Amino acid sequence: MARRRDRQSAASGKAGEDEEIPLSVQLPVLRGGDDRFARRVKSARGAVLRAGPVSTLQVNVGKVCNQACKHCHVDAGPARTEAIDERTARACLDVLERGRIGTLDLTGGAPELNANCRWMVERARALGAKVIVRHNLTVQFEPGQSDLPEFFAANDVEVVSSLPHFDASAADRQRGAGVFDKSIEAIRRLNAVGYGFGDPARVLALVHNPVGAFLPGSQRALEAQYRDELDRRHGVRFDALYVITNMSIRRFKSWLERTGQREEYEQALEDAFNPSTIDSLMCKSTLSVSWDGGLYDCDFNQMLELRAEGAPTIFDVDLEALEGRRIATGDHCFGCTAGSGSSCGGQLT
Ligand code: SF4
Ligand code: SF4
Repeated sequence: MARRRDRQSAASGKAGEDEEIPLSVQLPVLRGGDDRFARRVKSARGAVLRAGPVSTLQVNVGKVCNQACKHCHVDAGPARTEAIDERTARACLDVLERGRIGTLDLTGGAPELNANCRWMVERARALGAKVIVRHNLTVQFEPGQSDLPEFFAANDVEVVSSLPHFDASAADRQRGAGVFDKSIEAIRRLNAVGYGFGDPARVLALVHNPVGAFLPGSQRALEAQYRDELDRRHGVRFDALYVITNMSIRRFKSWLERTGQREEYEQALEDAFNPSTIDSLMCKSTLSVSWDGGLYDCDFNQMLELRAEGAPTIFDVDLEALEGRRIATGDHCFGCTAGSGSSCGGQLT
């Protein structure tokens, strides 16, 4: 336990300690030259990992964010400028319509800070698609964003929001000082318009990830604990808890490296490889789009610049041709198959 506390406190880092290992240095380590993950999947399934039909179009609208969390795999923050433009956003919606894709999943950065976010939500809803917005809660307090709860409710948006812990100091260590209190106030506002009470049109899912270099606990147990603690301490409600494993990429990988924990953590993920997660991996049914229209098998691959096979873009994509493509994998993929598995929708088994 003492060991875990030490790690958690180290995870907080300090200003000036957050320089990231350059991607050019990270990639050979991630891919290991022979992609151990692909070989592990092949030995478990007798075949390499391939994509099925696309059921979710996940659009990362850019890296602009009002926060700069310690473990952000996007390396997002207020100083970033990468942002989807209207032409690319329209191409995404055209593909959603043409492919009759059931879900539009908007992520970032803070998607709401992009000028195209709201009309993308409205058009996708008009097409009959389900819309998910990965909403960091505190963006509600940015200029012009205070009506977000009402906007989400009016469009039946599923809101997915990170709250790494129900304890304020643990959450603030990862996301920044004062973020927890603002997050609770933002959840209160979502509760006020009907989120968090079991209405399928007003779903608020919170996201937990460990504040340190260890695998997360059971989603079911953590959800029950979150429910009790958040209700008792703050009187706020939510519908579901998604438990996500920290991926050894970008800022988190750099922190692991700096604190001498990278090898041990990555080995722990590999040792916990669970073949029963393979069929539910999100890359099998999600197509990830970057702010500039590039296509990837998932948001993690996007951040590692591992393009989908054939390197198509949203402007020239043929969805039928993409079906059955070999998914680009690397050693980072062990983060998705460790233990109960991990995805943007929580644990897999
Ligand atoms: S709120 Fe999300 S996108 Fe923004 S810095 Fe934190 S983890 Fe990254
Ligand atoms: S990191 Fe991406 S490509 Fe790799 S297993 Fe996870 S979802 Fe699939």
